[in-house]
Amino acid sequence: MFKVTLERNKCTSCGTCEDTCPEYFELAEDAFAHIKGSKKAEVEELELEEEDCFMDAAENCPAMCIHIYKDGNEVL
Ligand code: SF4
Repeated sequence: MFKVTLERNKCTSCGTCEDTCPEYFELAEDAFAHIKGSKKAEVEELELEEEDCFMDAAENCPAMCIHIYKDGNEVL
């Protein structure tokens, strides 16, 4: 089980996550990233069963505000 979190207050609106993984990320109306399918919040989170492009988005986020947890342990 994976959990993706996004600290929106650290997002610089660069758009890399949306380019890398549009299945899960988009820039919202306020220009900060949003995890699709998550509740809009200062820290958004979404639980997912399978590894996917959100790993690449987390690796490539220049602000390091996307975090990935696998079975409760932070892996990115
Ligand atoms: S890659 Fe990071 S800094 Fe850039 S828009 Fe996405 S969350 Fe924000």
